[in-house]
Parts: sequence; structure tokens; C-alpha cells
Amino acid sequence: MISAATPQPVNLPIRPDLAGESPYGAPQLDVPHLLNVNENPYGPGPEVVATITELVTAAAAGLNRYPDRDFPALRQDLADYLARESGVRVAKEQIWAANGSNEVMLHIMQAFGGPGRTALSFAPTYSMYPEYARDTHTTWVAGRRESDFTLDAEVAIATIREHQPSVIILTSPNNPTGTALTTDVIVAVCEAALELDIDGAPAVVVVDEAYGEFRRAGVPSAMELLARFPNLAVSRTMSKAFALAGARVGYLAASQGFVDALRVVRLPYHLSAVTQATARGALAHATTLLATVDSLRAERDATVAWLRAQTYQGSPLQAAESDSNFVLFGTFDDRHAVWQGLLDRGVLIRETGPEGWLRVSIGTPQDMDAFKDALVEVAGL
Ligand SMILES: *Cc1c(COP(=O)(O)O)cnc(C)c1O
Repeated sequence: MISAATPQPVNLPIRPDLAGESPYGAPQLDVPHLLNVNENPYGPGPEVVATITELVTAAAAGLNRYPDRDFPALRQDLADYLARESGVRVAKEQIWAANGSNEVMLHIMQAFGGPGRTALSFAPTYSMYPEYARDTHTTWVAGRRESDFTLDAEVAIATIREHQPSVIILTSPNNPTGTALTTDVIVAVCEAALELDIDGAPAVVVVDEAYGEFRRAGVPSAMELLARFPNLAVSRTMSKAFALAGARVGYLAASQGFVDALRVVRLPYHLSAVTQATARGALAHATTLLATVDSLRAERDATVAWLRAQTYQGSPLQAAESDSNFVLFGTFDDRHAVWQGLLDRGVLIRETGPEGWLRVSIGTPQDMDAFKDALVEVAGL
């Protein structure tokens, strides 16, 4: 037998722009209160597990065959779900899905970004976007949000005209701030994108609604704008409200032309038969799975109110307005010390966002009690 011992290390021809980069990821630690990656704290119940098991069992019997490349049944289920959730009906040909909305976003950059092109978003925002840009050789530009983390339409339009991006990403509700955008701003951005000339075409706008289901009453979804803007896509995920992060299913709705462009760059059979079965099983129980959303929103509002009522070093603590299942709060002179102190007490939150701020995901009432008790101790509130 030949030993598989590692050979002498040698330089490998990694792309110069990737040299020295480390893989993205929040710490995955085994502690009692996991409040760091915005998961739904409630796992799927027995009925949901039973349906998923049944469909996965059926899929398992056919695993000698490649899965359906275009997964029409899952796309129909997603279109039906979106119609119920947002009140906007699209055809299954207007739906795309992949292994998490991270992969959907990569497909967008592969299809519409690339060398010589620019992608634009407005910071502070999701820290993965610059990585999709880097990986697809797309120039990354971070425009700016206001100090209350909203986006000013005039600023957005001026930034778009200055940088002429082919891809514009609007995150609403935004991560890590929780801020939802108004329809007016999204419309202004879509209109500015239509005026651009990217190799003879307008720019595309992607509204990342990963946290869409958590938006407060009266906050509209960008789904309502799909009929108006052929260059618009609305991206969603089953990882957050849907309590299915482990399954890796993200999706978007857009015009059929937009979706057809993504089909060109996807790897063949990218969505496994097991994943398709799992997603369909969960979608059959959408109402049950989303039943926790209302209590998570109430817990979120209570957490914002509690944080704002605290005094830290003589001033009230700040908590950003949130339409998501997390709250950005601060600011702390040494946020790392606060993060570490919470972790030492079994509460894992996220050290992210502008300097001095921390982000906590909304967990169960027990999780939130543990978080509050630990924060009072650590920060001396
Ligand atoms: C969590 C998150 C996603 C979802 O990622 P998945 O790959 O679907 O798990 C997308 N966008 C934002 C802004 C997120 O925070």
C-alpha cells in the first residue's frame, strides 16, 4: 500500500488576487445559545420531518439517475408559495433556485458581472457580496447608506451614474443592520439602472430579501415591482424564516429572460434530487414552518425596546430599526471584549457591522433571557 502522507509543501499557482485570502465563515461553536447566523431557533416539527423523509426516501430509490436539471415541480411550488406570501403571482419559468441564495447570487455575478464590469451595493451590508465579485473578476463598489442605515435615493442614483455597474444589489431588509428600503428608493434605483448602457443593455437590480418574511406589517416586498421592471430580480431563501438552513435552498423571482441567463451559467444538475425533495417537503408545510415568524418578530421588537432602555457608560444603548430576525446594537468601545464576554457565558452573537456595533439573532425567549442577562453583566448596563 502506498502511504497517503502529505508530500513536501510547494507553492501552488493560486490566482494572485486570492493569495493570502481566508475562507469566509462565522465561528461554528458548540454553545447553548446560538445567536450568530440568523437561523430560526425552532427546528421542523414531526409532521414536516415525516413529509421530508417520505419524499427523500422516494428520491433515494432513483439516485442512479441525474436529477431534473430544470426542477419544474420545485419551481412551481416556490411560485405558489411566493404568491401566497407576497400576493404576487409569477410563472414557474420566472423562478430560479440553487444551493442557498449565495449560489443564486453567484449565478447572477457569473451571468451579468465579469471582467471589466462592476457590481454595486450600499454599505454596511452583507459581507459575502464582495467575495462573489472577487470570485467572478467583477469590480466591487460599496456605495454608502446614511447614518441611520437607510438609503438616500439621490445618493444611490449619483453612485449608479458614477460607477455604471452592470449589477446593483439592494438588501432589504439589510444585513447586518435590519433596515428595510422603501418602495420609492427601489423604484428610483431600478429606473436609474434602466438608463445605463452596459454593452447596449440596462443594468440589473437584485433585491436580496433573505429576511423578507420578517418585515413589519405595511412594509412591501419588491415582488410587487416585478411586473414593472424586466431588469429586476427578488432573491429569497429557505434558510431564515423557513427554518431550513441545513437544506441549502435559495431562489429568486424575475423576468423569464433574467432566469434564462442564469440557466446558462449554472452547473448541470446543480440542485440534487435529495435537495429538491427536501425543499418540496418543507414547502408543503409552509404554514406550519412559518408559524414561528410572528413570535420571532414580537421577540425582535421586544429586544429592540429592551436594548434602547439600557444605559451604557452614561448614554442610552442604540439599537437599529429592524425588519429582520436580528438586531444591530451598540456602540461599544471594545466590541470584541463584549462579544467574548457573552461567549464565555454561553451566548454566541456576531461581531459584524460598523465599528463598535454587534449583531444578535432572535432566538427563543430562553435564548433572549440568557443574552440579556449576559449583556448586563459583561457591559455593566
Ligand atoms: C443569510 C443571508 C442569505 C442567505 O444565504 P443562503 O445561502 O440562502 O443560506 C442571503 N443574503 C443575506 C443578506 C443573508 O443574510
